[in-house]
Amino acid sequence: MDYETLLEKAYKSIPDKVHAKERWEPPVVESYQQGNQTVIRNANEIANKLRRDVQHIMKFFIKELATSGNYDNGRIILQGRFTDKQLNARLSSYIKEYVLCTECHKPDTTLITFEGAPYKRCEVCGARSPVKKL
Ligand SMILES: [Zn+2]
Repeated sequence: MDYETLLEKAYKSIPDKVHAKERWEPPVVESYQQGNQTVIRNANEIANKLRRDVQHIMKFFIKELATSGNYDNGRIILQGRFTDKQLNARLSSYIKEYVLCTECHKPDTTLITFEGAPYKRCEVCGARSPVKKL
């Protein structure tokens, strides 16, 4: 048996439960509107799950929604009224741009600066890909 076959055999022998546990679920925005503002109440949870700085995520929302906002006690408060659907669409863009590996699509990446430019580096496959400067 060659190495590849052995590896495949070993992988197949792992119970399905383990695979299910390993599958990564992206976080979902939970928000509410308050007057003319929109509050993302689970900002810290999102940041922890994505292993990104909450300020970085907030900056992205502000830029994408062309508004202003601030961080307050675990929440991101945006000026203007936005729906969960709008916010989750932006969060998906964020995850695609700044979190998921371009090569293997795993979320285990870190943001680094390489030769003065921002990149995400994958801890799984080692790929390094440029990301947009925020
Ligand atoms: Zn990768």
